[in-house]
This record gives sequence, C-alpha cells and structure tokens, in this order.
Amino acid sequence: MSVRKIVEYGTPSLREPSKEVHKVSSKIKTLIKDMLDTMYVNNGVGLAAPQVGENLRIFVIDVSTNDEPLNPMVFINPKIIKKSGLMKGDEGCLSFPQAYTEVWRYKKVMVKALDRNGRSFVLEADGDLLARAIQHEYDHLDGILFVDHATNRFAADEVLAKNNLPPVEVDKMIDIPEGESEDGSASSEEGKE
Ligand code: ZN
Repeated sequence: MSVRKIVEYGTPSLREPSKEVHKVSSKIKTLIKDMLDTMYVNNGVGLAAPQVGENLRIFVIDVSTNDEPLNPMVFINPKIIKKSGLMKGDEGCLSFPQAYTEVWRYKKVMVKALDRNGRSFVLEADGDLLARAIQHEYDHLDGILFVDHATNRFAADEVLAKNNLPPVEVDKMIDIPEGESEDGSASSEEGKE
C-alpha cells in the first residue's frame, strides 16, 4: 500500500489542465492503486490525479457506504457526454481539509471513460452522490475546483477562512448554466464541455 501526499488548495498545479493518458502502463496502474489507497486512507469519496501531484486525466471514485463492500471505480481520459438538470448540495474536497460548502451541479450526467484495464465504458448517474462525484473529479482534470461552483461565494469564503485556506478566486467562478432550473425540468445539454 502506498499513500501519496495530497496537494492542497492554493497550490498552482491544482489549477492546471491535465494531460490525456496515452497508454495504461504499469506506471499508470501503480498510480491508480496509490490513488485508491490515498482516497481510502483519507475517507474520501473520490480523488483525481492532480490532487496527488500528477497532472494526468485520471480519477477514482468509491461511493459505497461503510456497511457495503468496497466498490472502486476508475476513470481514465473521461468525457462527460451528456448533462442535464441542476441540483445543489454540500460538497467537500480532500484538497480542502475540513471545508464544506454548497455548490451547483448538474443532476444527471453520462460519462465515457476507460477503466483500469484500458477498456471503454459508459456510465450514467442521476441525482446521487455518484453524479456529484463524477462532476467534482472531472473538474479537477481541467483545473476547476468545487468552490468555483459555490451557490454563495461569501459563505464559501467564510468556511475557507475558518480552515486557513485561501479565499474563493472570483475570476474562476462558474455561472449557473442558463436555461436550467433547479428541479431539473429544463432542457438537456449534450456534449458541451
Ligand atoms: Zn476535490
């Protein structure tokens, strides 16, 4: 087992876009194993490669609860191919120790990716922790952080200050998508990234 150090908010590499993985080599497989170990040790639901200092398009997720068997999911070179509806809810991030704030997310997402064996798969998540985690981790690969989606910037700033983290970067904040309503009744967006 190999646990890697988690990069904290304020480190410039967390804002850099990550590169595609060209081959699921043994080095990549080791990185994935380490990412899973690191996620589990820190009781996380997801972890993206840039959070362990590797700017590569890989993230891992496990949304199983304590009384369920582990269910590690690996996403390599993911693409969100469909997204629709909106939901809001509290979120945290292993790169933001102890800081939770309410953010906007799409309710429904469809993601296409390669698994740890390099095989392609498509997965749909709707209104649950998995949908939230996919969007959160996917964002990390483009240097986007959960606080960029905060429903209330001032509340987010308060939480960040309380945990000795830098404030929200206002120029990085993302507007609520137009034409979407909170209850998810609005039109769907396809393939927009
Ligand atoms: Zn995160």
